[in-house]
Amino acid sequence: MTALCRATVDTLALNHNLRRIRELSEGAKVLAVIKANAYGHGLVPVAKALCDADALAVARIEEAVALRAAGVGQRLVLLEGVFNQSQLELAAANACDLVVHSHEQLELLESFGRNSRFTVWLKVDTGMNRLGFRPEEFSRVLARLRNLHAVREQLVLMTHLANADMLSSDATSQQLALFEETTRGVEAERSIANSAGLLAWPESRAQWVRPGLALFGVSPIVGKTGEELGLKPVMRLGTELIAIRKVAAGESVGYGSAWTATRDCRIGVAAIGYGDGYPRHLGNGTPVLLGDSRIPLVGRVSMDMITVDLTDHPEARVGDSLTLWGDGLPVEELAQLAGTIPYEMLCGVTQRVAVQYLK
Ligand SMILES: *Cc1c(COP(=O)(O)O)cnc(C)c1O
Repeated sequence: MTALCRATVDTLALNHNLRRIRELSEGAKVLAVIKANAYGHGLVPVAKALCDADALAVARIEEAVALRAAGVGQRLVLLEGVFNQSQLELAAANACDLVVHSHEQLELLESFGRNSRFTVWLKVDTGMNRLGFRPEEFSRVLARLRNLHAVREQLVLMTHLANADMLSSDATSQQLALFEETTRGVEAERSIANSAGLLAWPESRAQWVRPGLALFGVSPIVGKTGEELGLKPVMRLGTELIAIRKVAAGESVGYGSAWTATRDCRIGVAAIGYGDGYPRHLGNGTPVLLGDSRIPLVGRVSMDMITVDLTDHPEARVGDSLTLWGDGLPVEELAQLAGTIPYEMLCGVTQRVAVQYLK
């Protein structure tokens, strides 16, 4: 591969994480969430690597169509369901399970003229207040669904947690109690837990867990890295030094002269910038890995380049590799420094970055 700026995706780590999630979830089935280009790791290759997952989930029909076109035959769930007849027809043609969360979606199914049948994941809103039927509507909606020819008998009941990453909040216990009360007595599988749920709230595991972030080896819980949870980071974002120059004490580096040398320095220029998804919010002192050593970012992140201080590493040469995040430098740590979450960092890796899969 000739590109300097690369995301290396380790599919062995991905499968390690799937096994670790199974271990933590004590026998729950795993709906592997690979929406948004598999959190920046590449939709189709990740789906193919996750052939041991019990099912795959994406947010939108376009993602499901892309998976089927690439020959992915696994059970596939549309987490937002469909929003018009043509999407419903595509869902049928591509054998998708549907989340049903609104009256509009119920009506679409009621007016569906074809012979296909769908497995429905009926979503209840227990406090997220984004998608889902309100608890007081649940029984009526369930009865309507059970009357529909287009809906298979075996439903899955689901809800989504709004605060599972906040270990001290009682919001999750309230959501769990409301879901239990609302669905009590209904014979169906249940699914509640995202990554934070399955890691931090054992009561939320139910029959199906729905991990996204944890599959990629990353922790959704602030202050805890994936490694501490027994997960392995799947992505390494790396690049190379493309120039090295001397900068004298008192001289500044980059746009806005945002960093000034306090001693005579050796500054390295590396081929990565916000045009690749390395956040511009990262400031002076952000760690970058040169081999196993942490060296500081200095000056502003520009579109195609960053600058780092190599003064303490006289051995560094043009062509040496740098790691922006990955094993040894958790994306969780970088996200905190950038004032964001690891989800956004991973999804933000742009098309320009070459992706290489390790098998
Ligand atoms: C994205 C998503 C998930 C996965 O969330 P993670 O925090 O990445 O584990 C689970 N369920 C639903 C409904 C989602 O939209």
